[in-house]
Amino acid sequence: MDGTARAGAMRAALAADGSGARPMRWWRAPGRVNLIGDHTDYAEGFVLPMAIDRDCLVAVCAGTAGRVRARSLELPGAVDVAADGSDEPRRIEPSWGRFVAGAVRVVTDRVGHAELAAGIELVVSSTVPAGSGLSSSSALTVALVLALAESGGLVLDATDTARSALDAEVLATGVPGGLMDQLCSLHGIADHALLIDCRSLEVAPIRIPDDLAVLVMHSGVPRTLAGSAYAERRAATEDAAAQLGITTLRDAGPDQVCDNPFARHVVSENARVLAFADALRTGNHDALGPLLLASHASLRDDFAVSTPELDALVEAFVSAGALGARLTGAGFGGCVVAVAPAATADEVLTATVAAYGIPSSGPVAAFRVTAVGGAGPVSDPDGSR
Ligand code: ADP
Ligand code: MG
Repeated sequence: MDGTARAGAMRAALAADGSGARPMRWWRAPGRVNLIGDHTDYAEGFVLPMAIDRDCLVAVCAGTAGRVRARSLELPGAVDVAADGSDEPRRIEPSWGRFVAGAVRVVTDRVGHAELAAGIELVVSSTVPAGSGLSSSSALTVALVLALAESGGLVLDATDTARSALDAEVLATGVPGGLMDQLCSLHGIADHALLIDCRSLEVAPIRIPDDLAVLVMHSGVPRTLAGSAYAERRAATEDAAAQLGITTLRDAGPDQVCDNPFARHVVSENARVLAFADALRTGNHDALGPLLLASHASLRDDFAVSTPELDALVEAFVSAGALGARLTGAGFGGCVVAVAPAATADEVLTATVAAYGIPSSGPVAAFRVTAVGGAGPVSDPDGSR
């Protein structure tokens, strides 16, 4: 669906609720792909994601007193939650409404329970494939927090918006995530990856050279285990830090973690992120592929979050001519990210699909992504992506 059709469908969805004639505000938040640096953000480490040209759009207008009501163009069901934030997010059905309730609660906790009382009607449409590791959930919550914060008269800077969106996501899912996805969605810059220091929250743009393409393909494996395993892995890294007498593994050196595979992954991955960013900065393309493959091997062997399908997809990308590839996101399914020469990107995608096969389940997708600007208001939704 192009921008005009999407915005038109969103207007029609609001009009169907009798809200179409009211003034509307539009917000957009992109998904992201993490080039390198997984399971490092919650240990105050380094990550290198980029905001991608797939995004969540939210249109908002005045609604029924005391209620926040929401529809999604992609998922069924009408969400209807109390505008004072009193609904427990994890009890809301349909389940995607938990993100709405989480965002309502985060905003009302900051501005007071009366601020959204006039009521809000909103509609969501996202081109980020859900459940793939491209952070459709954060694109959704960042767009919702931006929309609801403005409705509630709350002025947030980018870091505060990211923290609020993370809080909303944790309220919705119970999964104690890191801040990478939200920061990336907010700080995205066209043609750049973002080197994020998850301790200082400093964000440094790193240009992606024009002769490189970033490719993504879904393994066909849903990430059903991701939530529980994520919490276990996070606890394991926190235990490892505690045993070393430090707050987070950010402060551990390689010699201190050689006997603990979970900690070893975090420490070695931090070093790979910095090396990858340096290689991009200095045009050292030869270094990129080996770093991606080493990251995948570490996630597979040390951190134990890969699957045979993700391993096979990494192999398929490499045999198709990518410089390197790795699982991206928390693991246990979802997508693989690859870097390939821009000149052969289409051939690499075609050959990868041929080598791996078309997944029988999950979103079927192999595509190139480009780096885009960060989340914010949209004045021309018909022209937006
Ligand atoms: P990921 O963030 O990797 O895409 P998650 O499991 O964290 O995967 O988030 C997916 C969830 O986000 C969906 O199950 C749904 O609740 C919500 N979501 C994503 N896209 C949409 C959408 N277009 N409309 C409504 N909810 C969505
Ligand atoms: Mg998510």
